[in-house]
Amino acid sequence: MDGADPDRPDGGTPQRRTTREPALDDRFGVPLRGVAVDPETRCAHWDSDRDVVALRFGCCGTFSPCHACHAETADHDPDPWPRARFDDPAVLCGVCGTTLSARAYLDGDTGAPPVSGSERGSPSRDRASPGDSRTQSGDDEAHRAAGSRAKPDDDTCPACGAAFNPGCRRHRDRYFE
Ligand SMILES: [Zn+2]
Ligand SMILES: [Zn+2]
Ligand SMILES: [Zn+2]
Repeated sequence: MDGADPDRPDGGTPQRRTTREPALDDRFGVPLRGVAVDPETRCAHWDSDRDVVALRFGCCGTFSPCHACHAETADHDPDPWPRARFDDPAVLCGVCGTTLSARAYLDGDTGAPPVSGSERGSPSRDRASPGDSRTQSGDDEAHRAAGSRAKPDDDTCPACGAAFNPGCRRHRDRYFE
């Protein structure tokens, strides 16, 4: 019996599974269906190292790695996740299995206070001396770039830090009401 490994990756391909309604993919802690889903919720359509998010649909309350997965594995038309349930779990991190609420996912982070103070550049400094301010503003920009710790445009899992594909959030109107 040695060498018999049912989970053996086939030429380096991770384990893929397609699940169609009404079945559910039992590898995950949430109801989930998709096409060629790997253990971190990548799918046949979205397969980069960042495509590790599954999104929940309002129609059936099931998670799918993407819109196309829902279309191919469900027998019904999709509904976006309803606004009334934005505090319920609606986003799954395929890496660690944590679920996020739609609100937490769409806001990018939950803990940080809202940005206050719209403009920090003081106009007076601009006026001080045009020659100097040019080099200074260049310096400022470099400083600001270097100082950016958690890029707000980047989606990451708050639990494990896995990078999410920012493209998912760009299609937010498909997934969220
Ligand atoms: Zn559905
Ligand atoms: Zn898909
Ligand atoms: Zn995670």
